[in-house]
Amino acid sequence: MTVITNHMPTAELQALDAAHHMHPFTANAELAAKGARVITGAKGVYLTDSEGERILDGMAGLWCVNIGYGRDELAEVAVRQMRELPYYNTFFQTTHVPAIALSAKLAELAPGDLNHVFYASGGSEANDTNIRLVRTYWAEKGKPSKKIIISRKNAYHGSTVGSASLGGMAGMHAQGGLPIPGIHHIDQPNWWAEGGDMTPEEFGLERARQLEQAILDLGEDNVAAFIAEPVQGAGGVIVAPDSYWPEIQRICDKYEILLIADEVICGFGRTGNWFGSQTMNIRPDIMTIAKGLSSGYQPIGGSIVRDEVAEVIGRTEFNHGYTYSAHPVAAAVALKNLEIIEEEDLIGHVQKVAAPYLKQKWEALTDHPLVGEARIVGMMASIALTPDKEARAPFATEPGTVGYICRERCFANNLIMRHVGDRMIIAPPLVISPEEVDVLIDRARIALDETLDELKRQDMLKAAS
Ligand SMILES: *Cc1c(COP(=O)(O)O)cnc(C)c1O
Repeated sequence: MTVITNHMPTAELQALDAAHHMHPFTANAELAAKGARVITGAKGVYLTDSEGERILDGMAGLWCVNIGYGRDELAEVAVRQMRELPYYNTFFQTTHVPAIALSAKLAELAPGDLNHVFYASGGSEANDTNIRLVRTYWAEKGKPSKKIIISRKNAYHGSTVGSASLGGMAGMHAQGGLPIPGIHHIDQPNWWAEGGDMTPEEFGLERARQLEQAILDLGEDNVAAFIAEPVQGAGGVIVAPDSYWPEIQRICDKYEILLIADEVICGFGRTGNWFGSQTMNIRPDIMTIAKGLSSGYQPIGGSIVRDEVAEVIGRTEFNHGYTYSAHPVAAAVALKNLEIIEEEDLIGHVQKVAAPYLKQKWEALTDHPLVGEARIVGMMASIALTPDKEARAPFATEPGTVGYICRERCFANNLIMRHVGDRMIIAPPLVISPEEVDVLIDRARIALDETLDELKRQDMLKAAS
């Protein structure tokens, strides 16, 4: 039998990985040819790879490791829970202490009367729950025709059939016959790319009013809910103009449409409050949670719903659930994670230290010749790369070509910064210190300079005509 350890030579690990492991969102043949980087450990905001390099993780894993890597308290809680009760379900009139304690804590932290939690193993499953939840809600209220869910182009709500349909990623819809029926997509509030000659405020209102128009076109009696991320994450850290959210809230109230805030990224301190809904001043009926809920230490997600929604759903048997809904180990770890965020006042750290410092350094990146706009909310930020700032012009090359080059330059300089098209995005662990922000920015600037050199060398510094 082959024993696979971290001590195997990197090339051998890469060969085995290429032979047997199918990576998500990856052209696997292309990756196999060059070899995946093997991550062997992590501490704080740094990853270590099999060659001993230390990489600053500007993405907190996949936007999830809010409290940073290497927190032994979470490991200890997991071990204790595994010894005591490694697994039990909550389907058939049973419950357990981690499920009870985590639910009570979430009800305390969530705004208003968002007091009831339905669990899943991640954000995709939770959004699938939401599709069934809102349709069941309206059916129970005697309005079974209210089925359509309105979402936005370039939204990300997960990768299952249901949640990818809710999402508005063209590349995902192009594979496997998505979206499912009953989902309608309106345009996103991305002023930089789509705002034309409008001011951001005018554009924000125009995009919000598309929701009203869609409700009128589809018929109020056919629309169940509107789902949106408070700040679009995977779509490129797109921050809506200030005029957008108040108008969305007005429209949802006026037409009796449930508002689902997908807080999978924005929740648990990312935007400088417990939830992105608080930062954007909206009142959702349902919040999707995952990622920062456990800081990624265990796979867990869920839907937090308002009293009235839970009361209506509770009138019937809701025929829905996952084997791992409220998994005791995941729930215990999530609870400990929330206690750490609270006890160490990580939200205060974001508000008073990390976010103001990052904002100042991040916005200064616009002095770089390649950087058009810089956007930041709390600890999620993006820059748009452009060959012509005045015109907000895209590159002549296929979208994402330049972003990919920049991401590769970041990776080579031991910084994880992702690209979405030709936008570069970060969402570092919330615990990042000002000194670590300096390292992040220094490496980003080196990568941007190297990208500029590369574009000049390949004669790619040209705007699309
Ligand atoms: C990541 C993400 C999801 C999906 O969560 P998974 O845990 O990957 O299933 C859903 N919504 C948003 C906003 C996300 O960023």
